[in-house]
Amino acid sequence: MIIMKSDATREQIRAVVKDIETHGLRADISQGDFRIIIGLIGDERKISFDHLAMLPGVKEARMVETPYKLISREYARLRGESEHRIIKVGNVEIGGDTLVFIAGPCAVESKQQLFKIAEGVKRAGAQVLRGGIFKPRSSVHSFQGLGGSGEEGATQALEWFREAGDKFEMPVVTEVRGESQVDLIAKYVDIIQIGARNMYDQDLLVKIARTGKPILYKRHFGAGIEEFLSFAEYMVAEENKDIILCERGILPLGKGKSYTRYTLDLAAVPVMQKETYLPVIVDPSHAAGRRDLICSLSCASVAVGACGLIVEVHHNPSEALVDAQQQITPDEFKELVTACESIHRAIGNKRNGG
Ligand code: PEP
Ligand code: MN
Repeated sequence: MIIMKSDATREQIRAVVKDIETHGLRADISQGDFRIIIGLIGDERKISFDHLAMLPGVKEARMVETPYKLISREYARLRGESEHRIIKVGNVEIGGDTLVFIAGPCAVESKQQLFKIAEGVKRAGAQVLRGGIFKPRSSVHSFQGLGGSGEEGATQALEWFREAGDKFEMPVVTEVRGESQVDLIAKYVDIIQIGARNMYDQDLLVKIARTGKPILYKRHFGAGIEEFLSFAEYMVAEENKDIILCERGILPLGKGKSYTRYTLDLAAVPVMQKETYLPVIVDPSHAAGRRDLICSLSCASVAVGACGLIVEVHHNPSEALVDAQQQITPDEFKELVTACESIHRAIGNKRNGG
């Protein structure tokens, strides 16, 4: 990272950028409170920091050790930006003082099912509507989401999804499973989800980041925190900082029966919120995989400072085509919202204290 002198000229800045580029790196220029900050994107070992420090107009050149410097709080501080990014989607603020609830079915199954659930979650206190149209499934024989039936089915489902969001005044989020779906989905939704299984797909991350839409980015169940944050960097390097990080459980340990689908890594929530300026939310549904734990894991997530939750809700969970065992009813979701809000009120905004 290079901090320019406050009186550095345009030519001096341009010369520094050129120098960086001739070493095969990219420069990320930002205006800090009083001076220009230039971030280096690429392998910093290719360039001598002593050399950079000697260039005219440079106040300081320092190596940032963290592999995810572009999303680090230190970087935000130096750039004079907020250490707690608030992502605005319509009237909803993610990462602000209000707890955000994203809710809806695992999969959009029909127009009637979607509208019934959308109405239920809205009434219960959800601010954002979720619904899967392209489902990542372990078996080719399972329902793949309405998007699995081809472009016509996908477009129809996306139109219903948009209509439900508009009718019930909620921004909408759905998962993009592959690069070929990005352009179509971006036309309809407010937030694009990158599922756990795609956390590592660099080309997909870059393509989605370039849409400029906010992104709900899920941690892979086998990924360490540093790895997750490093991959988030691919999107921020494309100048999209509207990334909502989502903890959704990691692989359970040991032999024998796993009582939960995954293990919710609660400590990852405050850890990530201390490391980065990005808001962190929790998905208790996929972490637990069973409906009796959703409310308590949601409460625990709020207690450790999560900015919000993404919860699977179905008006008739046992009939759901996907993830029937973990979906809760709109009434149960309402109880969850009430419980989480009272915890949030009691502890205050932990993110800002962190
Ligand atoms: C989902 O949210 O629909 C989903 C499939 O979650 P994950 O990618 O976390 O498994
Ligand atoms: Mn699901």
